Amino acid sequence: MSNNIRVRFAPSPTGHLHVGGARTALFNWLFARHEGGTFIVRVEDTDRARSTEESERAVLEDLTWLGLTWDEGPGVDGGHGPYRQSERLDLYREHAERLLAEGKAFRCYCTDEELEEKRRTALAQGRVPQYDGVCRDLTPAARKQLEDEGQSPVVRLRAPPRDVTVSDLVRGDIEFKKEMLGDFIILRSDGRPTYNFAVVVDDALMQITHVIRAEEHLPNTMRQVLVYEALGYALPAFAHVSLIVDKDRSKLSKRRGATSVSEFRNLGYLPGGLLNYLALLGWSPPDSEEVMTVAELIDKFELERVSPSPAAFDEDKLDWGNAHHLREEPLADVAALGMRFAEARGLIEPDFDRFEAMVDLAREGLARLSDLPDAISFFFDGDIEVEDEAREWLFRDETKQLLASLVRRLGESEGEIDASTFKAALKAAGKDAGVKGKDLFMPVRAALTGRSHGPALGEVAAVLGRGRVIGRLTQAEGGS
Ligand code: GLU
Repeated sequence: MSNNIRVRFAPSPTGHLHVGGARTALFNWLFARHEGGTFIVRVEDTDRARSTEESERAVLEDLTWLGLTWDEGPGVDGGHGPYRQSERLDLYREHAERLLAEGKAFRCYCTDEELEEKRRTALAQGRVPQYDGVCRDLTPAARKQLEDEGQSPVVRLRAPPRDVTVSDLVRGDIEFKKEMLGDFIILRSDGRPTYNFAVVVDDALMQITHVIRAEEHLPNTMRQVLVYEALGYALPAFAHVSLIVDKDRSKLSKRRGATSVSEFRNLGYLPGGLLNYLALLGWSPPDSEEVMTVAELIDKFELERVSPSPAAFDEDKLDWGNAHHLREEPLADVAALGMRFAEARGLIEPDFDRFEAMVDLAREGLARLSDLPDAISFFFDGDIEVEDEAREWLFRDETKQLLASLVRRLGESEGEIDASTFKAALKAAGKDAGVKGKDLFMPVRAALTGRSHGPALGEVAAVLGRGRVIGRLTQAEGGS
């Protein structure tokens, strides 16, 4: 990597990768790629009750599917590991010990019940509940006594009595009043770190230069600034990206529809289409272009153009952009991704070139890959479903003669049918039957595909192949 910019995405493996998390990962990744820096993935799994290996696997798989590959992280050692917090517990303990030895932290023996009682009293009196400092200055003898009584302590940071300013690249300076925080816990009684402590130790040791994460972490950042100062580590730059909200400005919720990357994948969005859309949630390129390849996103991405306003999730716009990506991304990639949608509907095509040719013809009208099976089903063997409008064309008076003539004309050439042979035969058959324009195309389209709309007939015939074309024309002719 050519410079020292180091960013990280730090998912907690407690569920699926949500679009908000994916957008955070994307901004970090684009920034790293644009700047020639390093993108790190760190798994924040210290919440033992909620973290699962299965979720970690799913999150990493979603990142990989999106193409957000990491330079350091699980499975990719970059000399700053381990990259799972559960494997770094000694580091947190050592750092807490150091703060204790320097008098910047202290052991607190208050029980949960005592703290809860005080919290309730504070609320009842209309005060903001805050740790009251009872264990701040315990004498060694008092501590020993509490320990002899079997109390296992937590470790709290001695919060300095002053306001904290967070400088944010997206939001400017944000001031937090000292009343907002007391001596907060950095190590729990079971020796596990709290989020705000582990993050600082990790970000500092991993030499993170820019912390780009969701706006909802701002109150945490205030605490983290104090941890950095206590540990004597330099602050990284912070950039808090705004919330993603629903079109009606409420919090994005499951009730609305898909919210996780795997759901969007199953709905048939392309990684490139989803990435493109996510990039526009809170960022805009200087040229206001809305459809961009990943390379263009990397080229244009700058933190300066990240907006502090909430970004509204608009599924129609996602569909619109995805449709562009379906048309413009390399055919082989689109076909490879579309294969499982077709196969799930029993549309199995072992010849990848032929499958690709179908996708090429069908992709023009698609918004999602989940629409692909319907768009290509007529290419497959078996009875084709005939739409009502198409059926009407088949029952016209001239249709029988037209189709018979087309079969005959096709018989004048040998070998596989290509688009131009078919078009020539079609023209000749039209003359034979005295029909042209719609009267020529519609019955033939209906006979070959069962539909009244679709891709150019010559190309359709070429992909169907001579056998199917003759078979369908003959069958329709018999039935019309
Ligand atoms: N594990 C935290 C989360 O998933 C990471 C926050 C951060 O980036 O510091 O929200």
